Amino acid sequence: MLQLEREYTDLVHSERVLLGPGPSGVDPRVLRVMAAPLLGHLDPEFLQLMDETGELLRYVFQTENDLTLPMSGTGSAGMDTVLSNLLEPGDKVIVGVCGYFGRRMVDIAHRCGAQVKVIEGEWGRIIEPEQVEDALGDMSAAKLVGLVHAETSTGILQPLKEIAAIAHRHGALLVADCVTSLGGAPLKLDEWGVDAAYSGTQKCLSCPPGLSPISFNEEARKVLNSRRTEVPSWYLDLTMIERYWGKERFYHHTAPISMVYALREALRIVAEEGLEARWKRHDLNARAFCAGIRGLGLKPFAQPEYLLPSLITVGIPNGVEDGAVRQFLLQEYGIEIGGGLGPVQGQIWRVGLMGANSHRKNVTLALAALASALKEQGFRATVEEGLAAADAVYASQEDV
Ligand SMILES: *Cc1c(COP(=O)(O)O)cnc(C)c1O
Repeated sequence: MLQLEREYTDLVHSERVLLGPGPSGVDPRVLRVMAAPLLGHLDPEFLQLMDETGELLRYVFQTENDLTLPMSGTGSAGMDTVLSNLLEPGDKVIVGVCGYFGRRMVDIAHRCGAQVKVIEGEWGRIIEPEQVEDALGDMSAAKLVGLVHAETSTGILQPLKEIAAIAHRHGALLVADCVTSLGGAPLKLDEWGVDAAYSGTQKCLSCPPGLSPISFNEEARKVLNSRRTEVPSWYLDLTMIERYWGKERFYHHTAPISMVYALREALRIVAEEGLEARWKRHDLNARAFCAGIRGLGLKPFAQPEYLLPSLITVGIPNGVEDGAVRQFLLQEYGIEIGGGLGPVQGQIWRVGLMGANSHRKNVTLALAALASALKEQGFRATVEEGLAAADAVYASQEDV
């Protein structure tokens, strides 16, 4: 008989302001519904909540796609779901890679047995429509083009509409990673012609990690329904899961009940604010933060015309130690921000202003805390100018 060698304390942890690339802070209303008693996964009252979650998801995705549901798992489970349901061995695929998450799409597409053509983009910039056009010309009969709408590793927002039209002209589907854009940046699946998309709950929806909303239009569904081979993952097989989320209510796996409660509440909060108001709020706070960053004497990293409003990347000045600054922010202020991934590790910070966290008080807090962290490092950030620049953005907004 093995015995435990120590006692375990109650779960108590320090207060944090989650201003990193995710998870982001969760709305207290969402936490409250997670404590509600469970319903069974086939209880008529739970089925009603599932239907409502689907309706709300269609609103935030701006789509009428029937096949719109939250997969069990985090954002990466959505990426796995979309690619493994659409791809079969030997299929030709084009993926734009200008950051870490595009690379992950390539990895998954390879695991599906697809032939993958990579459009190599520059980190911090978007993939240009001409690059996609060229790739589609080079690789005839590509089945789909995969792009990251909000590249959380670099802070750019990739335009999709023009590229969707290009892909369709070549008979390919457009698949978009909307993990950090859903609920935080303009996203209109139907109007733009995005054929399949996936997202996550833990970024701009201000909900804990655990579900991954996906949406397939009729074209994508046709591809799914005309597969020659079974979907390789039993758990992520949409042909079965849609029978549970659809009218049949066929048991597949037990829905993570409390997470569905959480997502429904998070989406209700989005609907109460209104999508457009929410996009505007993210945009305003991002602009104020960027102005503040410049005021401090730092430089935003991403291509300025395509700034992602939910995640801002900041160049780390020469001589400043990345890890020391992030540790200082965590210890002294309880603020979490992210470091760079891959080729930009040690070169940028990633500051998330997502969902409920996209707020003026966090903009001011992050700027002031960053200035104090930089001072520790011997870099003289001009804190007054940083805060004044952010204030000026809010002031100019009030005039309109
Ligand atoms: C966070 C993120 C993911 C992965 O989501 P997980 O919840 O970590 O699995 C995928 N794509 C993008 C763009 C992301 O930001």
